[in-house]
Amino acid sequence: RCLEQCRINEIIKLTLPLLATEMAKRKIELETDLQPLPPIIGDPRELEQVVLNLTMNALQAIGTKGRVRITTRHAGSRVVMKVEDNGPGIAEQIRSRIFDPFYTTKPLGEGTGLGLSICSGIVSDLGGTLDVTSVEGQGATFILSLPAATEAS
Ligand code: ADP
Ligand code: MG
Repeated sequence: RCLEQCRINEIIKLTLPLLATEMAKRKIELETDLQPLPPIIGDPRELEQVVLNLTMNALQAIGTKGRVRITTRHAGSRVVMKVEDNGPGIAEQIRSRIFDPFYTTKPLGEGTGLGLSICSGIVSDLGGTLDVTSVEGQGATFILSLPAATEAS
């Protein structure tokens, strides 16, 4: 693992083209609204993995025809990224379990249930948080918050 100053917007811009073909095939539109951000400290490869996992989950939840919106904001001493989809959302009863390792609602062979647990591990190691909000039937939003790098870091 290799920690360095990273720019989340750059990581998003490098990662999303990997999903362009899949999104076109599924008729899913991508909207991005990336605001100017201070750098954060992280391993760029791990952060790419987080962006990829959250976006893949959104595509899989939607299936076909829908919209994924990725936004970034600078909020005080934090950098916040949201990945929002208009898929089926997440039932309240399972919301607390989706970050557990091996928890999946996908058919055998389609999901390992490791994506979100790996993502939340990466994020919490960096002093950040990964949360979810959802309105059933309307979609889900994953909210990642990481500390902005300071002069000292
Ligand atoms: P996997 O994708 O292999 O199932 P994850 O850890 O990535 O494992 O996700 C765990 C579970 O969380 C999924 O099986 C699904 O039930 C739920 N989930 C994750 N992202 C979304 C989303 N965007 N919309 C609806 N459900 C989701
Ligand atoms: Mg997943």
